[in-house]
Amino acid sequence: MAVYNVHAGHCPQGKGASGAVGILKESVEDRIVKDEVIRLLRAEGHTVYDCTCEVNTTKDGCLQKIVAKCNQHSVALDISIHLNSGRNDYKGDKSTGGTEVWNYDTRTKAISDRICANIARELGIRNRGTKYDTDLYVLANTNSPALLVECCFVDDKDDADHWNAKKCAKAIVEGILNKEIKEDISERKEESEMKCMFKVDGNATVYYFDGNRIVALTNSDQMRILQEIYKDNNGHDMPFYNWTSSAPWYMRLKQVIDLKPVNKLP
Ligand SMILES: [Zn+2]
Repeated sequence: MAVYNVHAGHCPQGKGASGAVGILKESVEDRIVKDEVIRLLRAEGHTVYDCTCEVNTTKDGCLQKIVAKCNQHSVALDISIHLNSGRNDYKGDKSTGGTEVWNYDTRTKAISDRICANIARELGIRNRGTKYDTDLYVLANTNSPALLVECCFVDDKDDADHWNAKKCAKAIVEGILNKEIKEDISERKEESEMKCMFKVDGNATVYYFDGNRIVALTNSDQMRILQEIYKDNNGHDMPFYNWTSSAPWYMRLKQVIDLKPVNKLP
């Protein structure tokens, strides 16, 4: 298992030297990304230090604090999370700005190439590729190998439309570890999730199948609260079917519910 440093690139939003602001706010989004990167790396068993500067300070003060935190630990990689700016495309021109990763030298090239390709693929934005700069403060002053990820552009509507901080974080971690992460408990839960609602012949009564039994709801607020909780847990609407008595699929569902468990298998 490896040790990593992860940090968001600037001060918190509205506090001192916060990051670029366009359609997206760098200091808001980069923190969602870094929190998720840290969570995913830890879930894979790695040790991770959060080296983000959370105080109100200047640009230089922020960078110095970040580097001081980074250099407290000898790590496999320092990961700096940023969002880019400079596209000035607030309307959207159907062309994304894209993602790029800055390196001090070629030691980190393989990881960098993977992160770029993963983010570009996951978000559907341009891959601007691996770049090099020996003057970027964090890259120049950290003792361990370091990477600076510019996830996408804050001021490009096309990037903002494709943006998903959590997907981006997963793409970064899969690039670092060079493996696919099958962690998401919610994804696995979705696969086994059988809950649904249905109506018959367009009648007002809404039936709810909770995975074990079917009940007839008695008012519309009951439907609303179930749908709300389901969506919060799963990130999408509960399936809702309009079945007809001429093709009564609800009867097939009921038959399955009523089947007796099998005692003996062949
Ligand atoms: Zn930045």
